[in-house]
Amino acid sequence: SSEVSSRSGSDDVSVSFEFFPPKTGAAEDRLWSAIEKLEPFAPDFVSVTYGAGGSTRERTHRTVERMARETSFTPAAHLTCVDAPRAEIDAIAQDYWDAGIRHIVALRGDPTEGIGERYQPHPDGYDYASELVAGLKNIADFEVSVSAYPELHPESSDWRAEIDNLKRKIDAGATRAITQFFFSPDIFWRFQDRVLDAGLDIPIVPGLMLQPNVKGLQRMSSLCGVAVPDWYVELFEGLDGDPLTRDMLTASLMSELTAELYDRGVRQYHLYTLNRAEIAGAVARVLGMHRRTQLVR
Ligand code: FAD
Repeated sequence: SSEVSSRSGSDDVSVSFEFFPPKTGAAEDRLWSAIEKLEPFAPDFVSVTYGAGGSTRERTHRTVERMARETSFTPAAHLTCVDAPRAEIDAIAQDYWDAGIRHIVALRGDPTEGIGERYQPHPDGYDYASELVAGLKNIADFEVSVSAYPELHPESSDWRAEIDNLKRKIDAGATRAITQFFFSPDIFWRFQDRVLDAGLDIPIVPGLMLQPNVKGLQRMSSLCGVAVPDWYVELFEGLDGDPLTRDMLTASLMSELTAELYDRGVRQYHLYTLNRAEIAGAVARVLGMHRRTQLVR
């Protein structure tokens, strides 16, 4: 029906998947089995997050390079300014470039002691993401994506500071902003209006959080300034022992959010997969990405 074709199968939809580098062998196996299931959706790119501490960083590097070698994905590497002098960050970026990785998601990062602590830039480091973007562009002509915060970054004094910061990142060379996750489309529309009012014209790609553990979600959200609406939390009540229903509910709520965004013109989506294939796959299907596979094959 036209209802179906208007919501899915569009050639102009693009999806990206975000993964985190696994810590254990078992987690690594789970990630690679998720990747196998998600590969046929032919995402525009996939990204791998970057954490605090040397071993986590090494894992990001390994995961990104393995994706580049062994999958059809175009991987993007997240990179942060935390606890490292510029020279070290520049060397990591140069290594990525030499390995054929052309896309970096450039972030400031959070304090190693945890979100909510006061951020201290490294004395010889990049102070903010905007400086990192400029540094990356000095090294090579990377495609650079950055973050954006539809509910305000917790350290931003007001909307003016938030939008000015986004503008600095764009002026430094970023060509895509991926948003922090959110739960109400209105939050996204208001943010998009602020961006347009400021005359910024790069794609603002909504980030969709596919986390079925609503208690974990609430913990994390409160630290990063995201409101999980009461109605959302209430829907998960009584499901602590029922992971299957939690997954189904998450898939249906995120599909609903996706469809609302689609109906008002959004065509690019970034899915925080949590290294799992089922929910991300369901949402990608709602967007018609399974049909794109048939075209690609
Ligand atoms: P910035 O854009 O640098 O902004 C940080 C704060 O500083 C803002 O409040 C801004 O307004 C303020 N600010 C900027 N410049 C100035 C200035 N000149 N003067 C005063 N104030 C200023 N974290 C990780 O550790 N690893 C990841 O892989 C990762 N991936 C992410 C992916 C996405 C899509 C998103 C949305 C977030 C991700 N994060 C990641 C979290 C991110 O690191 C944190 O949200 C962090 O607190 C801010 O990083 P940023 O790049 O947004 O910082």
